[in-house]
Amino acid sequence: MNAVVYKGPHEVAVEEVAEPEIEHPNDVVIDITTTCICGSDLHMYEGRTAAEPGIVFGHENMGIVEEVGDAVSDLEVGDRVVAPFNVACGFCENCEDGYTGFCTNVNPGFAGGAYGYVAMGPYKGGQAEKLRIPYADFNALKLPEGDVHEDSFALLADIFPTGWHGTELANLEAGDSVAIYGAGPVGLMAAYSAKIKGAAEIYVVDRVPSRLELAEEHCDATPVNFEEGDPVEQIKDLHGGGVDKGVDAVGYQAVDPEKEADSAYDPARENPAVVINNLIRTVKPTGELGIPGLYVPEDPGAPDDMAAQGRLGIDFGLLFEKGQALGTGQCNVKSYNRELRDMIISGRADPSWVVSHRVDLEEAPEMYEAFDNREEGVTKVLLEP
Ligand code: NAD
Ligand code: ZN
Repeated sequence: MNAVVYKGPHEVAVEEVAEPEIEHPNDVVIDITTTCICGSDLHMYEGRTAAEPGIVFGHENMGIVEEVGDAVSDLEVGDRVVAPFNVACGFCENCEDGYTGFCTNVNPGFAGGAYGYVAMGPYKGGQAEKLRIPYADFNALKLPEGDVHEDSFALLADIFPTGWHGTELANLEAGDSVAIYGAGPVGLMAAYSAKIKGAAEIYVVDRVPSRLELAEEHCDATPVNFEEGDPVEQIKDLHGGGVDKGVDAVGYQAVDPEKEADSAYDPARENPAVVINNLIRTVKPTGELGIPGLYVPEDPGAPDDMAAQGRLGIDFGLLFEKGQALGTGQCNVKSYNRELRDMIISGRADPSWVVSHRVDLEEAPEMYEAFDNREEGVTKVLLEP
């Protein structure tokens, strides 16, 4: 079958790979109908996170069940399902407590598993014609038949729940004011979640005009372009005092606009705490911060400049002085995705506006390049094998 294979930094190719098979009685194999490119794939694509050439990317997958293992009880051939990006067992202490992003069984020695991602277990990605889903009764969410809401349902694998998670980590409540850094797919879904939850004021910070326009149009957010001046001052000018809540939907690729003029500047190898520090400054004393944007641990084995990625220069003193609380981590997709699926079915949510492209799997190399360059108008790319 064809799949998107990582070749090396800034290079993926669509190549023939072996088809997945049932490896354990709890598995199913699905025929992929939609699989998305994610900002998290870009960490490996850009070489910011080292990945083995040859791996198949893709952790945002949906499709039709094609083959069912003997021990699977809730799924049948022909069922339409979406797979949370987390691979989780469903019965360890963390899974039972709803922390399915931190399953302790699927990937010993590391917290949590995922498809097509280094350090997150041996699970192949779904940017391919077929995918094996382990612990399938737990890791596949059933969807209505046919092709209704295909784009919206595909977003249940990751970015809709992850945006929602950002607002949960910050304990966002109706009537709150909130600042969201990053208007990529995750930041836009955090802003959309804030709107659904009844936030009174939403500020979204980025510099890609088409992304800021989406935030304004679909989330009633006030756009803040960080190339037009310090975003913290811009928000304070509009709001005063500091907002109640904040979300970092950027992660460790955060760009520091003051350093960009220097040709030696590489955001992947600099202290990327610029967004976290802005967030601490933007949010009021006793406010709460949610950080779904991805950061990596310090790696003693990595070259010096990359080891520093984990050693953020966070202004912890300011966080302490302001008495702020901080929530972090992978999204526990499973704990949100039934509720969000049902909001889509009932018409209370329709996140499909974030999708800018639906293209053939073969077009993945061009689309990776365009998404990586944050080209105007390229927001969320869906691949169709
Ligand atoms: P993306 O790269 O498309 O979006 C990031 C956005 O941040 C871009 O639009 C960029 O212009 C903007 N940005 C860069 N520097 C900035 C700055 N200094 N201030 C404000 N904005 C800035 O990626 P995405 O798909 O939206 O994902 C965002 C992050 O969320 C990534 O780090 C990704 O790995 C992470 N993520 C985490 C989870 C989770 O479970 N916690 C799940 C999915 C994605
Ligand atoms: Zn993702």
